[in-house]
Amino acid sequence: MRKSAADLATMRKAGRVVGEMHARIRDAVRPGVTTADLDVVGREVLAAAGARSNFLGYHGFPAVICTSPNDMIVHGIPSPTVVLDEGDIVSIDCGAIVQGWHGDAAFTMGVGAISAEAEELLRVTEASLWAGIRAMVDGGRISDIGHAVQCIAEGAGFSVVKEYVGHGIGTAMHEKPEVPNYGPPGRGPKLRPGMVLAVEPMVNIGGEDTVLLDDGWSVVTADGSLSAHFEHTIAVTEDGPEVFTVL
Ligand code: MG
Ligand code: MG
Repeated sequence: MRKSAADLATMRKAGRVVGEMHARIRDAVRPGVTTADLDVVGREVLAAAGARSNFLGYHGFPAVICTSPNDMIVHGIPSPTVVLDEGDIVSIDCGAIVQGWHGDAAFTMGVGAISAEAEELLRVTEASLWAGIRAMVDGGRISDIGHAVQCIAEGAGFSVVKEYVGHGIGTAMHEKPEVPNYGPPGRGPKLRPGMVLAVEPMVNIGGEDTVLLDDGWSVVTADGSLSAHFEHTIAVTEDGPEVFTVL
């Protein structure tokens, strides 16, 4: 589970490509844009960087990004018929492979002006991710991460999705260990320098229950409430956590 300094250097490059995808897609989100338009932006960034997609073709997934608006939690398929409107929120999840090493990260943003409640959901979900990241210290335990996430999200009155979890990442997008976004602290494998994890809280305004739609991919909240998703790929180092999926 522990990567060498050379491995981490390549993962840093893959993470940077994902950070670039996020920046370019953020700039492209506006009322009237389709989620297929955003996928095109993701493809352009990957091509310009000479990187490959770890989403395209994953169990047959047809795009380089997942686009999940409003009550959709994760895994939405970009489509020319899904038009984003003023007041929507949309979650974007994407990744990149550079020289065989993977990056994976997600964010949720508003389309134009959004409700105060939606703003609060985005703020709290991102804060829960950063609380999880701060728990990624040498000698800590895997479940310290989810505990930190859960305290922030539930402390704000929201619910944490339990059926989908974060993961180790390296030469595959999904490696061991699983990283749940809930639970008591002090459990699971010890965190050691060289471990790299994708931490990805999914937080709902309403209940935690999920429903898989008939397309076999899209996961929505059972009660129709809004959901947000933030993710980074992060290494444990002697100097604390290092986030790779940023510019
Ligand atoms: Mg992801
Ligand atoms: Mg992930």
